Amino acid sequence: MKTKVAIIGAGPAGSSAAIALSKKGIPNILIDKRETVGIPVQCAEFVGLNINSYVDLSNIPSAVNQKIKFMDIDAGKNIYRFDGKGYVLNRAVFDWHLAGEAVKAGSKLLTSARVYKINRQKNSIEVLNAKEKILYEIYYDYLIAATGPKNGFVSPKNSAYIYAVQIKADLLKKLDSVICYFRAYIPYGYGWVFPKGEFANVGIGIEKPASDMPLSLSFDKFLSEIRNAGLIGSEIIEKTSGLVPVSGLNEIIDGNIALCGDAAGLTHPVTGAGILSAVISGGMAGDYAAESIEASHNLFEDYKEELKSVFKKPLFNAAKKRSELYPLMKDASGIEENIKRLWPSFDEYYK
Ligand SMILES: Cc1cc2nc3c(=O)[nH]c(=O)nc-3n(C[C@H](O)[C@H](O)[C@H](O)COP(=O)(O)OP(=O)(O)OC[C@H]3O[C@@H](n4cnc5c(N)ncnc54)[C@H](O)[C@@H]3O)c2cc1C
Repeated sequence: MKTKVAIIGAGPAGSSAAIALSKKGIPNILIDKRETVGIPVQCAEFVGLNINSYVDLSNIPSAVNQKIKFMDIDAGKNIYRFDGKGYVLNRAVFDWHLAGEAVKAGSKLLTSARVYKINRQKNSIEVLNAKEKILYEIYYDYLIAATGPKNGFVSPKNSAYIYAVQIKADLLKKLDSVICYFRAYIPYGYGWVFPKGEFANVGIGIEKPASDMPLSLSFDKFLSEIRNAGLIGSEIIEKTSGLVPVSGLNEIIDGNIALCGDAAGLTHPVTGAGILSAVISGGMAGDYAAESIEASHNLFEDYKEELKSVFKKPLFNAAKKRSELYPLMKDASGIEENIKRLWPSFDEYYK
C-alpha cells in the first residue's frame, strides 16, 4: 500500500493531522491499533473553553459531559477557587468525531491495525491487522507519529511519566468545578475529582520513579478521603489507567517523521493537560506535511520551529517547576508553602 502521509494514532493529535491533510486534498492513511477510536477512554476529560477555537464543540452532539465554571485547588488547609471555564468532555465521542471528520474529508482510517516497525530507509511502516491477522507494509513520503504517551518505537522518546489511575464513580453532590487535591500521600502528583453530571472521574497521578509510593496505596487513601467527605459513592463503575509524559518537549522531528501530541511530549508537566496541545500540534503537523508535499521539499524543520515557538517556553518552565517544587511538597507544610508557585492558576507561578 502507498500513501503520501501515514499517520500513526487516531487520538486527537493524529485525527487533527488527518483532517488538515485531507482538507488540502493530500492522500493520507490514519492508523490505530484500537478496534474503536476513542475507546477505552484513558483521560479525566477536562478542557478549557479555548478548545472551541480549534474544534467547535457545539457541532458535536454528546461531546460534552458537563460544563465547568471553576477550578478548585484543595491544598489541605486551604482551598483556592479560580475561574476555570471549560468542559468535561466525553472523550470517546470527541475522539470518534475527529476521526470521522478526517474520513469525511478523505482520509483512509485503519483500525485494529498496530504499527510495529518503522523502516526508515524504505520509508515504510509494518502494520499488523489484529482482527484479520494480516501483515502489510505501507509506503509513505512523510510519517506523522501521533502515538500518544508511550512512543517507544518512535524516536525521540519521552523520558519521564506520571502513572495515573482513575475510576468513574457516582457523584453525590452537584459540582460546577473541577477539583485538584494536593496531599502528602500523593507525592510528585495530585488527585482529582472532575464532575460529569451524575458521575465523576476520580483519579490520581504520581511521577515514577521520583516517588516510590505505591500507586494503589495512594489511590485507596484518596478514595477513602473523597468517599468520607460524602462526594462520591462507593461503587466503581469503570476503572482506567494511563501514562502522562512530563519530561517536556521532545526533539519533535526526525527526517521525514514528525511527532505531535503526547508523542512529542506536549502534555503540561505540572497539570498533565494535553488534549488541546494534541489538537493544535496535530493540525500543525498535518499542515506542514501538506505544504512539504506541495513544495516537493521537506518543511518539517519549520514545523519544529513553529511548535517550539508556541510550546517550548511554557513547557520548559513547567518542567522546571515540577522538578524543583514537587520534591518540596512531600509533607503537608511543604504543600501550603509551595502550591502557589507550582500551579499555573496562581499569579505567583509566573513570578
Ligand atoms: C488518566 C489521565 C487523565 C488525563 N486527563 C486529562 C485532562 O483532564 N485534560 C487534558 O487535557 N489531558 C488529560 N490527559 C492527557 C490527554 O489524555 C492526552 O494528552 C491526549 O490524549 C493526547 O492525545 P494524543 O492524540 O497525542 O494521544 P492519544 O490520545 O494517546 O492517542 C494515541 C493513539 O495512538 C494509538 N497508537 C499508539 N501506538 C500505536 C501503534 N503502534 N499502532 C497503531 N496505533 C497506535 C493509540 O491506540 C491511541 O489511539 C490525561 C491523561 C491520562 C492518562
